[in-house]
Amino acid sequence: MGNREPSLELRAYAKINLGLDITGKREDGYHDLKTIMQQIDLYDTIRLYAEAESGGSGEKGQILISCSDSLVPSDERNLAYKAARFLFDEFEITDSLLIEIDKAIPVSAGLAGGSTDAAAVLMGVNDHFGLGLSREELISRGVKLGADVPFCIMGGTAYAGGVGEELVPLGAMDDYIVLVAVPDTRVSTKWAYNAYDEMAANGNIRHPDIDQMRAAIEMEDFGCIPEFLGNVLEYATIPEYPIISKVKNTMMQNGAAGALMSGSGPSVYGLFMDEDKAAKAYDVLDMFDLVPEERIFLTGFHNQ
Ligand code: ATP
Repeated sequence: MGNREPSLELRAYAKINLGLDITGKREDGYHDLKTIMQQIDLYDTIRLYAEAESGGSGEKGQILISCSDSLVPSDERNLAYKAARFLFDEFEITDSLLIEIDKAIPVSAGLAGGSTDAAAVLMGVNDHFGLGLSREELISRGVKLGADVPFCIMGGTAYAGGVGEELVPLGAMDDYIVLVAVPDTRVSTKWAYNAYDEMAANGNIRHPDIDQMRAAIEMEDFGCIPEFLGNVLEYATIPEYPIISKVKNTMMQNGAAGALMSGSGPSVYGLFMDEDKAAKAYDVLDMFDLVPEERIFLTGFHNQ
């Protein structure tokens, strides 16, 4: 956008799932989940450039997207566009808006990259145009854009249940060092859930105890988090994408207290207590070409 100063610059943080369980399937095909989500310090940078309508035409405000990642559509399919359009229509905003997205969060990785951009734009448009929506009011609009958008608005650590409609904030957690590695492959979320359904029909699923993890966090017993980590979608993805377990094993062999796939993958994270060990695990993943270096992130929890 040349030398022009943005109207607003926002950080849209990625999430990981510390636990993810599927507890049922509804008649409409949606899965009931129990999950604990945690924001991490990996973020896309979003700049909003607003321009007041000239001439008072009263026409619908124009929204343009410019995105640094060619895998992401730069048009009305972009979730950031949908978020802005939602509020522009509701509040009949006639200004024009350019949304510039610098993607740092890998796309289709299970890190809620699209949802967090949508959440940031909802909050940014609310602030910049002085719409006066409360966090709860933004959340009720966010759920229409995607199941993970409400969490991305809330931020920090939270429990989510049902199809995402039940959202409970949990207190800020003690920091772990988080090593995130995203193997260079894409996993379709739809495929992962279907493959899980087939696996589950044959039984033998060990469900993580999400309630116990939630209770531990509520009691500020953060030390036991690594032993509760569990994601049932690994039953679907690991047989098809063995790189996921290779990355997990590499992290565990190099000192992670726990390691897990996030969402429907393929991203894998390890929780470390020791910075040197996390750095060594980073080097090993890179050295053996398990994950391209630009898709490995040494980061931490992001608390509100
Ligand atoms: P989740 O963890 O919520 O399942 P994900 O991290 O697996 O999401 P995303 O990175 O959100 O996946 O991308 C999913 C799809 O959304 C991709 O096909 C991508 O093209 C599309 N998309 C639309 N808008 C965006 C955006 N702003 N950023 C990233 N992806 C976007």
